[in-house]
Amino acid sequence: MHADEFDYHRAESVEHAVELLATEPEATLLAGGHGLIPALKKRELTPETVVDIGRLDRLRGIERSDGAVRIGALTTHREVLESSVLDAAVPVVPRTVAHITGGRQVHNFATVGGNLARAHPGYDYEGALLAAGCEIHVRGSDGSRSIPIAEFVRGARRTALTDTEIVTAIELPTVDGERGGGYAKRKEPASGNAIVGVATDLTFDGAARGECRAATVAVNGLQESAVRLTAAEQALTGRSLDSDTLEEAASVAGDAIDADAVLDNKKASADYRLALLESYVYKSLFSATDA
Ligand SMILES: Cc1cc2nc3c(=O)[nH]c(=O)nc-3n(C[C@H](O)[C@H](O)[C@H](O)COP(=O)(O)OP(=O)(O)OC[C@H]3O[C@@H](n4cnc5c(N)ncnc54)[C@H](O)[C@@H]3O)c2cc1C
Repeated sequence: MHADEFDYHRAESVEHAVELLATEPEATLLAGGHGLIPALKKRELTPETVVDIGRLDRLRGIERSDGAVRIGALTTHREVLESSVLDAAVPVVPRTVAHITGGRQVHNFATVGGNLARAHPGYDYEGALLAAGCEIHVRGSDGSRSIPIAEFVRGARRTALTDTEIVTAIELPTVDGERGGGYAKRKEPASGNAIVGVATDLTFDGAARGECRAATVAVNGLQESAVRLTAAEQALTGRSLDSDTLEEAASVAGDAIDADAVLDNKKASADYRLALLESYVYKSLFSATDA
């Protein structure tokens, strides 16, 4: 199937892209194109104008500063996956991106900003970013602001972005102490998207991975937006993470979940998604404790 016709503009700067979004009719952004182009071809999206931000190098790259790592919105999955800075400071993020399917073509073109802005419940980044806790920096015709990740995705394909706003970067706080990250995903066979994807971010006291000082666990694919598994987090915090503790945390993981909000569709039933939760939480915790 072919896309409907649209006007194409290449943005020369972030400011230019914002101006085009504000002035052109029914405008949408193009970054890596691996979410937008299939959606145009299926006519799920029929914008009158496409604003290409793919050449805005200012929006690329990964930088560590005091207390944070900043990922530019146009940074590709491959750059995230291969980043030694992220691997050391926020390992849950590259360990999650390793599970994104589609091979080199997707990893070399698709971007973190596009993945997040598409807000697809089965995409993998959101859970990892929720587990790591981050701010989404955006720029629009009313200026710049930052949005906590928990407030960014409002539901399936809905975000807090206004019509003129662009994601410019994701800022992840770093922590003192040793950090572990893990991700475990049950793939939907046709798309590779997550039926259930569990991201774990652990902070340990000392370098020897002794007691767990802080734990955040989040799941995508289960509901319209990623959700924290707070019962599992409580079962891990302040504990030494032997296999009994991991099993206990996995067994209570679904306790605080709103079962009525679990997705129930042709990809997977709600019962199936819930039945997967315990074992995928265990796998994710296990991989996060594995240095
Ligand atoms: C074969 C295949 C397999 C895939 N498998 C997976 C998978 O397993 N897991 C997974 O998570 N993803 C998967 N994806 C999706 C992919 O990872 C991309 O992240 C996704 O396509 C969006 O990134 P993009 O840069 O291509 O964005 P685009 O397609 O260019 O844009 C996507 C949407 O985001 C908007 N947008 C883009 N950039 C910005 C920005 N900076 N600010 C605001 N809005 C913006 C666009 O307007 C558009 O609506 C797969 C894709 C393909 C084609």
